[in-house]
Amino acid sequence: MCRYAWNNYKPHFVCFNCRKTYKRRLFEDIYENGDKAEEKQARCPQCGGYMADIGTEFKAPKKGDLKAWKQIEKLYQVDFTFHSCGCSGPGYVPKNEAELKELLLLRLGLFKENLKAWRKAEQDPSATDGVSHDKAQISKAINCWQNTIDKVQKQLQTLG
Ligand SMILES: [Zn+2]
Repeated sequence: MCRYAWNNYKPHFVCFNCRKTYKRRLFEDIYENGDKAEEKQARCPQCGGYMADIGTEFKAPKKGDLKAWKQIEKLYQVDFTFHSCGCSGPGYVPKNEAELKELLLLRLGLFKENLKAWRKAEQDPSATDGVSHDKAQISKAINCWQNTIDKVQKQLQTLG
């Protein structure tokens, strides 16, 4: 969701199945062509399953902390990953559903602000953040935020 905000992108991968994280460098060892590795979806060296690209600021919970892992998986499902882009807190993991809900609601407000800003830019190209965005980029950004907002809202519904 943050591809419009982040930079210095060095992913960490996580396998929800094994509850293990791997750094990007590991994949350069696994795949012969290091550059190509990024294009492939990373697979877990342990179970062979697809891994989630969870971001640089992610701090893994203890392997046995199933609850914490479940929360992270839920966050991942709404693209709330731990990229160091200023729009998600560094390594913060909610401890229970109430905290998760609170966090999602907070993010939802932020995402809506972003959407509103892009919508405004769509209406009035001079109303941007000083950077000129072309129409294609603006509509991509609007779609991106809209999707993210939909996902967060769906996730919130499952939390009751
Ligand atoms: Zn695995």
